[in-house]
Amino acid sequence: MTKPSLSQLISDPSCLDDYDPNSMPVEKARQFIKQFLEPVAETEMLVLHESLGRILAQDILSPANVPNYDNSAMDGYAFNAQNLNGTQLKVIGTAFAGKAFSGKVAAGECVRIMTGAVMPQGTDTVAVQEKVLRDGDMISLSEIPKPHANVRYAGEDLKQGQCVLSAGQLMRPADLGLLASLGIASIKAYRKLKVAFFSTGDELVAIGKPLTTGQVYDSNRYTLFGMLSRLGVEITDLGAIADDPAVLEKTLLHAAEQADVVITSGGVSVGEADYMKQLLSRHGQVMFWKIAMKPGRPLAYGKVGKAHYFGLPGNPVAVMVTFYQFVRDALLSLMGKAATPPLPMFKVECTAPIKKLSGRTEFQRGILFTDEHGIWKVKPTGAQGSAILSSMSLANCFIVLDESVGNLEAGALVQVQLLDGII
Ligand code: AMP
Ligand code: MG
Repeated sequence: MTKPSLSQLISDPSCLDDYDPNSMPVEKARQFIKQFLEPVAETEMLVLHESLGRILAQDILSPANVPNYDNSAMDGYAFNAQNLNGTQLKVIGTAFAGKAFSGKVAAGECVRIMTGAVMPQGTDTVAVQEKVLRDGDMISLSEIPKPHANVRYAGEDLKQGQCVLSAGQLMRPADLGLLASLGIASIKAYRKLKVAFFSTGDELVAIGKPLTTGQVYDSNRYTLFGMLSRLGVEITDLGAIADDPAVLEKTLLHAAEQADVVITSGGVSVGEADYMKQLLSRHGQVMFWKIAMKPGRPLAYGKVGKAHYFGLPGNPVAVMVTFYQFVRDALLSLMGKAATPPLPMFKVECTAPIKKLSGRTEFQRGILFTDEHGIWKVKPTGAQGSAILSSMSLANCFIVLDESVGNLEAGALVQVQLLDGII
């Protein structure tokens, strides 16, 4: 895809022949957004504990071999396999983890050794204690181990100078442990991304106040808070804003001034009090799409001042689906995360029939479960309306149905994408 500027795209969407803002395929919208994303420039030093969930802004080279020395992988007896004559060995001392055996081991001798202890001089093999009979200071091997068995070698995990983590890595628990194992106490990370958001709509009421007919509680700010918190960004919640052009304008400009990214929900679909659209065309460069997907048809992306702008639909499920399918990846790129493969999808049998129109991608909410034979299967959560937030709460996965897919019988294979992960 060529790289048109945002303003080119907005003034002349036809500058790309196959661009149809009224039926934008999911993948194409993702690609469009991607070309405007540059990571935040600033970095900061963080101690290891603080780096969890943050994005590394430097390559980390191993300052040493890991492990640092040859050591035993088991509790047992260390000896030299070349010098073994028969099955009897004399125990001449003990090597503990953190307390090495300082002597030298000669032919016919061995050292009692614990897991992690330095291999004593003159030894190259460890017999595990379960395969040894001990009588006083003599042992006899009931099974002769292969030479070099049960030894962990210096540099076996990591070699000195080897790149162990690259810039763009999202720091996970294993990465913290890995750096600790190298004695590295702090890292350079990208600064936290600042994300401001607000809801729009005259009908919205903040929790804690009573509802009257025609009003709904503002739930989008809570799902957004949850999804953004999981990404580890700095959050500014600017509240629920009534459909009042002056207040919306003030809030939008304030958000764009202080944040790297502004997210709004509601007010970007067609045929309503279109204040957000007017404001965005006055103060920003924003593309409005109708995505060929369900839920989540209306979506806006662009810039307001220096801030990236995402205009999400108002319906609560659509907010979550568009966040996960478009915003999440974009935020990770802005946070400095290196490009990684998309979230994994795999195919499982769906135990209920599915109604689906071809020509658009659907993200139905599903429950993955194991049947009586322990086989993973999926079933839809029930009603799939884009306002039925309980479907998201019940779900542990999306059932992702591509554009080409139509109605499906029970038993059909479908693609699923997990909502919950182990990390
Ligand atoms: P809109 O995109 O503004 O036309 O809103 C579409 C639907 O989503 C309407 O039924 C709204 O009441 C509902 N909605 C919009 N914003 C929110 C919100 N923050 N929380 C709950 N529902 C909302
Ligand atoms: Mg609205």
